[in-house]
Amino acid sequence: MKKFKVELFRKMCKSCQLCMFICPKEVFGVNERGQVVVLNDEPCIGCLQCYNICPDFALEVTKNGD
Ligand code: SF4
Ligand code: SF4
Repeated sequence: MKKFKVELFRKMCKSCQLCMFICPKEVFGVNERGQVVVLNDEPCIGCLQCYNICPDFALEVTKNGD
């Protein structure tokens, strides 16, 4: 069972890709429209580097079940 849930708030995200480059677990990717998306949060370790680097407060990382 996965430990963390990663949510991206579409309206606040400008797809700058900072989260994608800093994430050590390849949780993020880019869709066919050039938008950054959560591809797979299964391997997320909850390091919060994406959350901390996002300039637009567009991410939320929560412990599974919280
Ligand atoms: S860092 Fe924030 S604004 Fe930039 S792509 Fe990631 S979620 Fe979107
Ligand atoms: S918390 Fe860490 S591992 Fe999880 S998505 Fe963000 S940067 Fe990647």
